[in-house]
Amino acid sequence: MNLEEYRGVWVFIEQREGKLVDVGLELLGAGRALADKLEVDLCGVLLGSNVKDLAKDTFEYGADKVYVIDDPILEQYRTETYMKAVGDLVRKYKPEIFLYGATANGKDLASAVATEVMTGLTADTTLLDVNLEKRLFEASRPAFGGNIMATILCKKHRPQMATVRPKVMKKLDPQPGRVGEVIEESISLKEENLKTKVIEIVRSAKAAVNLEEAEIIVSAGKGIKDEKGFKMVEQLADVLNATVGASRDVVEMGLCGHDHQVGQTGATVTPKLYIAIGISGAVQHVVGMQNSEMIIAINNDPDATIFNVAHFGVVADAFEIVPLLTEEFKKALK
Ligand code: FAD
Repeated sequence: MNLEEYRGVWVFIEQREGKLVDVGLELLGAGRALADKLEVDLCGVLLGSNVKDLAKDTFEYGADKVYVIDDPILEQYRTETYMKAVGDLVRKYKPEIFLYGATANGKDLASAVATEVMTGLTADTTLLDVNLEKRLFEASRPAFGGNIMATILCKKHRPQMATVRPKVMKKLDPQPGRVGEVIEESISLKEENLKTKVIEIVRSAKAAVNLEEAEIIVSAGKGIKDEKGFKMVEQLADVLNATVGASRDVVEMGLCGHDHQVGQTGATVTPKLYIAIGISGAVQHVVGMQNSEMIIAINNDPDATIFNVAHFGVVADAFEIVPLLTEEFKKALK
């Protein structure tokens, strides 16, 4: 592999039902900094059906070029079609860095493309940089339960790829009227030759919990004890228009589903406000919420380790303070 042939920073621009998913725009912000450092173009990859018009938005958020494949075969995400489309683009245009949002589809696609073009992939990165001297992408992520940051290099293969969770990177301020180049490509697959078909899309009756994109999270720990305690946390969340999070112990107690779990084996969250109620602060929990903008912890044990990461701490019995807070917020937010 001649590494010198690979130039440019690419971002997978995810869209759902014709609307851009925020994480793609966030990655354009991060990608812009890398591209400027390397003095190369920042390019988006946009796939779907009737999606070409979305390209102009990506220019406003920093893209110089967008590779578009607009084809009915790409209407719904399928590993088979998207992997082929992206794989062909990579083989033809040879980018050196390729970023994807760590959404369900982004994670699936990135790992499929990594095998398709035989390169490496770093998952769930939180810090991106380049070593200019060696022209190497440095993708860093927490490792060993968040106790160290590991910087992962892909020295011998290209593109150097990474996934980044939503809300970890920041969008640039849009520059209205900023323009770029749209490069239209096609896909050579035929529907009748595909192994997978989307027969029907069944939406979950219950709105899925979207912790990763939540702005306020009120999280319950084992200190809330039982269903009554969990209800109390839900009521506070309700008043604040917040999403309910939970520690693993609370999920294991059967008080809520795993989709509420924050931490190493749950969601990694970065809300503006995270209120931890009756959570001790085990490293496996903290690794999933420590990057929240503001953390308020409520715990009746003054030595609870959650206070080490909290910006504000309340040493109190949750059963006394939480209903009071709910009442006060109700009045204030009326
Ligand atoms: P506890 O540790 O039991 O803490 C309860 C807290 O409530 C205590 O600090 C106590 O002082 C306080 N309290 C009690 N009564 C009150 C009251 N009346 N008012 C106020 N405070 C009160 N955990 C996760 O959360 N997420 C994960 O993704 C996760 N992944 C894991 C993966 C692995 C491989 C392993 C080994 C563990 C994982 N864990 C995870 C579990 C983790 O180690 C802890 O066991 C868990 O986070 C503890 O949950 P907790 O804080 O709710 O409970």
